[in-house]
Amino acid sequence: HEIIGKVVRLGPGVDKFSLGQRVGIGVQRSNCGGCDCCGAKIEQLCSKITKTYAGPGKDKGGFSRYIRYTAHWTFAVPEGIPSEQAAPLLCAGITTFSPLKRHCRPGMTVGIIGIGGLGHLAIQYARAMGCTVAAISTSDSKRTEAAEFGASVYIVSSDASQMAAAKGTLDVILNTASSTGVAGMDEYFALLKPRGVTACVSLPEKDE
Ligand SMILES: [Zn+2]
Ligand SMILES: [Zn+2]
Repeated sequence: HEIIGKVVRLGPGVDKFSLGQRVGIGVQRSNCGGCDCCGAKIEQLCSKITKTYAGPGKDKGGFSRYIRYTAHWTFAVPEGIPSEQAAPLLCAGITTFSPLKRHCRPGMTVGIIGIGGLGHLAIQYARAMGCTVAAISTSDSKRTEAAEFGASVYIVSSDASQMAAAKGTLDVILNTASSTGVAGMDEYFALLKPRGVTACVSLPEKDE
C-alpha cells in the first residue's frame, strides 16, 4: 500500500493523468461519496472505504504487476522525488501529515514521540509547517538524526530530569511509538501546555 508505478491505461473520462505518467497509490481505494464525511471532504473517514489490500477480491496491493485503481485515489508524483522516497509518503507520510496538518500552526512547539519510520517524517513535516520540533525518544541514540531532520529540542523520555524540565512546553504531541514502557501517558501529557493536544497514531499493548 505504498505503491509507485506508471499509468498504462486510463478509464473513460479520466483526464488528470496521461499514459506513462508516474503516480502513487496508498491504502485507500475508494469512498462512498454520499456520507457526511465524504461531504465534509474528510473522505478518509468514510465508513464505506475500500482498500488497496486485504479486501474481498484478489487485491495484492503493490506486489501485483498491475493494479486497477480509482483516479480520485491515485496521486501524481512530482518529478524531483525518487520513487523510493515517494512511496513511504503514501502510508507513513499521510499517517503523520494528517494529524499535524489538523493540529499544528506556525510558531507552535510540537513533540514527536518515537523517531522511527513515522517519526522521522513527522519531524520534517512539523518543521516545514513552521513549528519548533521536540524529538522525544527513549534514549540518546537518535539525537543526531533528529536534529538533521529538523528537531531543535531533544528529550530523553527515560531521563526524569529531562522530562521534568520539559513540562508544559508543548502545544501538540504526536505519538508514533507503540510502547509506554519507559514513560507512561501521564508523563507525556505533563509535557503539554494547558489545552494542548495529543494525537496518537500508535497505541500501546493493552497490558501496558
Ligand atoms: Zn462516504
Ligand atoms: Zn502502511
